[in-house]
Amino acid sequence: MSTAAPKSMDAIMSLCKRRGFVYQASEIYGGINGFWDYGPLGAQLKKNLREAWWQDMIMNPAWGQKGPNGQRVKCVPVETCIIQHPKVWEASGHVGGFNDPMVDCKETKGRYRYDHVMVYVPEAGEAGDKPIFAYVGDQPSESKQKKKAEKTFGAIKSVPLSTIPQPWARVMGPDAEKPGSLTEPRMFNLMFDTITGAIRDESNKVYLRPETAQGIFVQFKNVVDTTRVRVPFGIGNTGKSFRNEVTPRNFTFRSREFEQAELEFFCHPDESVAWYKFWRDFRMDWWKSIGLAGENLILREHEKDELSHYSQGTSDVEYRFPFTSPGFGELEGIAHRGNYDLTQHQKVSGAKLEYNDTDRGEILPNGGRRGERYLPHCIEPAAGLDRGVLALLCEGYTKDESRPSPEFMKLHPRLAPIKAAIFPLVAKDGMPEIAETLHAELNAKFWRLGAVEMDEKQSIGKRYARMDEAGCPWCFTVDGETAKDQTVTARNRDTGQQTRINISKVSEFVANSIGG
Ligand code: ATP
Repeated sequence: MSTAAPKSMDAIMSLCKRRGFVYQASEIYGGINGFWDYGPLGAQLKKNLREAWWQDMIMNPAWGQKGPNGQRVKCVPVETCIIQHPKVWEASGHVGGFNDPMVDCKETKGRYRYDHVMVYVPEAGEAGDKPIFAYVGDQPSESKQKKKAEKTFGAIKSVPLSTIPQPWARVMGPDAEKPGSLTEPRMFNLMFDTITGAIRDESNKVYLRPETAQGIFVQFKNVVDTTRVRVPFGIGNTGKSFRNEVTPRNFTFRSREFEQAELEFFCHPDESVAWYKFWRDFRMDWWKSIGLAGENLILREHEKDELSHYSQGTSDVEYRFPFTSPGFGELEGIAHRGNYDLTQHQKVSGAKLEYNDTDRGEILPNGGRRGERYLPHCIEPAAGLDRGVLALLCEGYTKDESRPSPEFMKLHPRLAPIKAAIFPLVAKDGMPEIAETLHAELNAKFWRLGAVEMDEKQSIGKRYARMDEAGCPWCFTVDGETAKDQTVTARNRDTGQQTRINISKVSEFVANSIGG
């Protein structure tokens, strides 16, 4: 376990705002709870994360490794609509079951997820008829309620509200003044709905998708019928999802609009557990490869009693965010979903979704095969791109007071939104012209992957500091020597070390640092 103190979320959020990674949505109107926009650096960082996923999950799945069947993994993409036929969400269980039990505060009108509410109670023994003090972690109510509880009971402990039998008369809501303010838990559907067409009528009600995965299941048959994919294979989908989260919080971690990158990998039931293990392990390796290596990242296998009835295994890749520390928060879930989703869509839509596997099944007297018909099992690695960006920002944020630029963002060069910066040391003696030529060369080569910046204003130290905060891995400075020996200095963001390299090698140098 790390003993390092968690990084300050306030410092990370302030750098994100200051440097244009993340802005509050609708900020000039006071913001809107649960919605965030990305600024120039954040938009490119998120694009790089999405593309790294696309490259390593769809175009060159699992980095070209062979799967448990001994063959290279095959995956294809789809891009499906945010609004689907409402029956999709009946089949998936979201209309009936996408509910969180909620408690409302009658006094403050606050609404909380029942499983998030904690209470302070006496450390030993019963509270009797004294109030017990509810709070939600990381909210101002936490310390306020703690003080009140300590005053009432002395030594206290904190337990989930759900563990207290019949607390309702005694419990004092997080920001309430009187006990008995919380209602008993009630179900609340997290799907946003709207109306299609001109007539505002319940029969035209549709939902904004709460996940991208269902779009894959409903197009499974089309993909099989119109392409040459054979089971086992995967279909990937990325895009916005919406959940009317009751308590959006922790910066972008729990938002109401967010982006997912999901893969459904279809396989024969007999091979499904092997594929589950394959994807679970690869997803962990992948997050490590883009800079989340170390003790802040864990793979948590769900206990048997946490699994859905159809699942033979689920694990979460979890990251130790500053606001969850010393605990972890989910970055991605990898679930063995059996054939639950295809079964449901087959039942509700009436369409035949069985796959005819002509590589298996009975061999006929003429040497051909009858083919085995079955609903493939599915392994679902479901990642959140916004949580991914947040983890990269939290991991990358580094403070070192001994440096001239004390705050810097250690982003992996593959993900960094600015790939390189070019500085003429001074704006004279031909240096800007040489820098301009190098800038044009690098820009032409790397614009698909990120920005190449040219900066000739301010002191060189300030220019390095700006790039350090933006997470730019390399700065190249054209100085008095350059015209004489065709070398520039290459400065490393993380160590501050400088080496001289030939100007003709800069592009190759940047490409090698990005890798991928
Ligand atoms: P949680 O338990 O945190 O609500 P979940 O288990 O409901 O998450 P999934 O339905 O498995 O999440 O969604 C897959 C991924 O989508 C999550 O691992 C996460 O990265 C992302 N995600 C889910 N809900 C949100 C949200 N409200 N804001 C940002 N990302 C989210």
